Amino acid sequence: MAALHGQQNTFFIPSSVEQEMLKHMYTSLPQEACGVVLGEAAAGGIRISRFQPIRNVAPNPLHHFSLDDAAWIRCVFHEPQLIGIFHSHPRTEPVPSIEDLIALPAYAGLLQVYLIGSPNLTVRPDQQMRLNGYQIQSNLDYPSKAEQQKLYHLQPAQLCVT
Ligand SMILES: [Zn+2]
Repeated sequence: MAALHGQQNTFFIPSSVEQEMLKHMYTSLPQEACGVVLGEAAAGGIRISRFQPIRNVAPNPLHHFSLDDAAWIRCVFHEPQLIGIFHSHPRTEPVPSIEDLIALPAYAGLLQVYLIGSPNLTVRPDQQMRLNGYQIQSNLDYPSKAEQQKLYHLQPAQLCVT
């Protein structure tokens, strides 16, 4: 289900799934939270069906995330609907960091959905999440060598919470 370049896909997310990500994000504070999302292609985008928290095993979990290897491998082999990952930015905007982009090739080939959430501390602590979604796209079919070397990029996607 390769998206056309420049085309903005929509991620359909049930509000119950969004709530689970929000809960995991707040219970993980002050550390970054992470997990995988399951789902499948749907008309006009991707329909997300489940969120599964995974332990963040980064040496510095306040500022980075790293999925627990065993849990990640279990998902890769036993979750046919594995479609993306979620992580949180407890203190910054929900946009990909340089570190996020550097780490992307480690799992990007298997995934299409990249979600980042941040607490909305200005409104009402423990109730709000700012959630951004990006479609993971391969650069392999780009003509320029420089682009190809980056392998993957994140294309902003529209979120539709249902
Ligand atoms: Zn990040």
